[in-house]
Amino acid sequence: MRENKADIAIIGAGIVGLAHALTAAKRGYRVVLFERAPRAQGASVRNFGMIWPIGQAPGAIHQRALKSRQTWLELAPKVDFWLAATGSLHLAYADDEFAILTEFAALAPDLGYDVQLLDVAGVHARSQAVQEKNLKGGLWSASEVCVDPRQAIAALPGYLEREYSLRLRFSTPVHRIDLPRIETPSETWTVDRALVCSGTDFESLYPETFATSGLTRCKLQMMRTAPQPSSWHLGPMLTAGLILRHYAAFAHCKTQAAYARRIAAERPEFNAWGIHVMASQNGLGEVIIGDSHEYGLLVDPFDKTEIDRLILEYLQTFLAVPELRIAQRWHGVYAKHPDRADFIAEPAPGVKIVNGVGGAGMTTSFGLAEEIFAEWE
Ligand SMILES: Cc1cc2nc3c(=O)[nH]c(=O)nc-3n(C[C@H](O)[C@H](O)[C@H](O)COP(=O)(O)OP(=O)(O)OC[C@H]3O[C@@H](n4cnc5c(N)ncnc54)[C@H](O)[C@@H]3O)c2cc1C
Repeated sequence: MRENKADIAIIGAGIVGLAHALTAAKRGYRVVLFERAPRAQGASVRNFGMIWPIGQAPGAIHQRALKSRQTWLELAPKVDFWLAATGSLHLAYADDEFAILTEFAALAPDLGYDVQLLDVAGVHARSQAVQEKNLKGGLWSASEVCVDPRQAIAALPGYLEREYSLRLRFSTPVHRIDLPRIETPSETWTVDRALVCSGTDFESLYPETFATSGLTRCKLQMMRTAPQPSSWHLGPMLTAGLILRHYAAFAHCKTQAAYARRIAAERPEFNAWGIHVMASQNGLGEVIIGDSHEYGLLVDPFDKTEIDRLILEYLQTFLAVPELRIAQRWHGVYAKHPDRADFIAEPAPGVKIVNGVGGAGMTTSFGLAEEIFAEWE
């Protein structure tokens, strides 16, 4: 019988917990990973699988995303999950949208992004999946990568166990941390340090820290089509004008405010539900479509057909896809800080909470984990 002893306990087997488990194991720590569910079923398996450096704020967070991207590329063949380095296209169908892309392309070298402004012919050369009507042009970025989150998040724990002898404890909620003791219903562990990567569970561990953290929840509605014909490929992941109101990277563009005002006036329903539409395609040929953003600690358990209708309506202004039969609908919830790209706290000596990665956890977690350990050691 092995003793229930480790150097580091990680609570939560979503992408944040997995990234920290990998980083700790690579640094030679003995790690135990606790997940209360039989397998991860939070935000980390419900997303698009977009590794999306282009959307991240310039500077440190963009660098964090590029570092994570590199880790994903290295892991895919080792762990054996599907990954496609597709890049991305932002499409413009109105002059004010193209003005933002043009301004962003001009600022990009100074901000550290590697992008290319495309005319209509340039867009068609990159993608066969783009609606032609009213197309003004697009922005190409090579840095975006797609994974299938259901597959990758399920495969990573087994890899960590095989490669690094990490101890896995699924179906094991941690209900108390009092270092060096970690308590679960079935076992007590002795560890030096603990990382709490509990996603949207703000109540089970350190509720008083979460209560004053500023974190809230964000609910997103998503859809997946039936598999596309095998001859059709999305190619680069696609998005269009509405996204330019959302991602921090575009906040530097002076042309953004006027566009945001126009959308607010003409299509207030897009703002009401936080809709901006993106599409990726996984290794099974399914197109993943989303999303909406409803903020608040109380998450509506019931989905809104109106949101799905608006997403599909907008999608068809830029995506020409042969099969739009929706095979699955679901929602996911992530933890979000209003002003920060993460929420880090030390509620007790030797314990760190790592949370609040918002809508970019797949994009930033591996880079964030490196930063956390570099600072912690
Ligand atoms: C619909 C949707 C689309 C998204 N699209 C993208 C995208 O394309 N690209 C991108 O970069 N990001 C995307 N995101 C954001 C990304 O999915 C999240 O930032 C990320 O998954 C958060 O990871 P996490 O590990 O913090 O949370 P989670 O995945 O929710 O994991 C937390 C885990 O902790 C476990 N846990 C909690 N408390 C305990 C306890 N006491 N004991 C044991 N286990 C516990 C939970 O069971 C859970 O499995 C999207 C999010 C959503 C919802």
